[in-house]
Amino acid sequence: MPGIIIKPRSRIYHGHDWVYSSEILKTFGDPKPGDVITMKDYRDRPLGSAIYNPVSQIVARRISRRKQKLDAEFFGRRIAQAIELRKQSDVDLHLCRVIWSESDALPGIIVDRYGDHLVLQTLTLAMEINKQLIIDALVEQLNPKSIILRNDSPMLKAEGIEPSIKLVYGENPGAFIVTANDIQFEIDLLDGQKTGLYLDQLDAHASVAQWAKGKRILDCFCNQGGFALACAKAGAASVTAVDISESAIEATKQNALLNGLEINAIKANAFDFLKNCKEKYDVVILDPPSFTRNKKTLNDAMRGYKEIHLRGLKLLENNGILSTFCCSHHASRELYLNNVVSASVDAKKTVRLIKNHSQRLDHPVLPAIPETEYLKGFTFQLTPSR
Ligand code: SAH
Repeated sequence: MPGIIIKPRSRIYHGHDWVYSSEILKTFGDPKPGDVITMKDYRDRPLGSAIYNPVSQIVARRISRRKQKLDAEFFGRRIAQAIELRKQSDVDLHLCRVIWSESDALPGIIVDRYGDHLVLQTLTLAMEINKQLIIDALVEQLNPKSIILRNDSPMLKAEGIEPSIKLVYGENPGAFIVTANDIQFEIDLLDGQKTGLYLDQLDAHASVAQWAKGKRILDCFCNQGGFALACAKAGAASVTAVDISESAIEATKQNALLNGLEINAIKANAFDFLKNCKEKYDVVILDPPSFTRNKKTLNDAMRGYKEIHLRGLKLLENNGILSTFCCSHHASRELYLNNVVSASVDAKKTVRLIKNHSQRLDHPVLPAIPETEYLKGFTFQLTPSR
């Protein structure tokens, strides 16, 4: 089998599954993009099998520590393991991420389940080439009514894969309703603007709602209203939700109607809204998109986070609560925490940490592959003025 020899001190020797082009000592046997290759260390000892794509900076991604082909047996086994893992956790198996790429030893495959319907992403060339085997295994094990391929991630470009959104199994479900935290959401996985939910935040919605009863809530970067709806349902006195996207605001309004809840949903840039806002709130929620996808722009991103933290803290009433989330892998938990502390110093307020948040268990973290940990969040309460 063709393969690569990997330089000493590369990340694979520390438990990672990726090999960057700069970590390759030698390529042998002329492997083709999308092939399975064998990996060896510089003393010719085997390191397992990987999928290969020289177009990407990440040239090889390990699929097994042994010799392994991409065949029906492999996909069947790995998908069964991923499902079993979710069964053992307390996530709702009918509304969860069933497969999450490296964390489930299926690099590049993401599968989200919305009841009878699955959304598949194939973000690496080898998985894209083998997607029929993946679809067959999913049909066999989860018996879905439809599978929608939703390859629209910016990551596809790095692998040289054409974006594509299409039905690959069953019939187009159209718009339908899913229930999370006792709240109904309308989604349309194929045609709609209101595509899937942020499944990684479902636990956080419920967690933050515990402080909402009788309170004035501001949910910034609300998307389809996950936090806002959970807070309204928990008996908030008022809920304002802000998002820059027209379709997100429409979805929030429709979801509020659907659940008989009242939400003041405003289409605005959250930076401007926070800057110009004259009202005070008891709970401010900040759940922005990732402000950086690489290390180079991390400083700019941290300035952005600090600005919303500072402004959010200033809008808080005495004893007010700030919940803030960061979905960029590059900003570490510690860096993000320090960012809030620094904003609190500028705002002349003291914050007490009352809750740590992280991604749900259907997005498993492998510490040896730090990229699998991306979502962190904190809830703080202002201390009485001192
Ligand atoms: N809180 C949501 C997920 C938020 S995703 C949940 O838990 O489900 C991030 C959202 O930020 C997206 O909906 C995006 O439209 C919105 N967004 C991006 N930039 C923004 C800006 N400058 N101001 C307001 N919203 C913005």
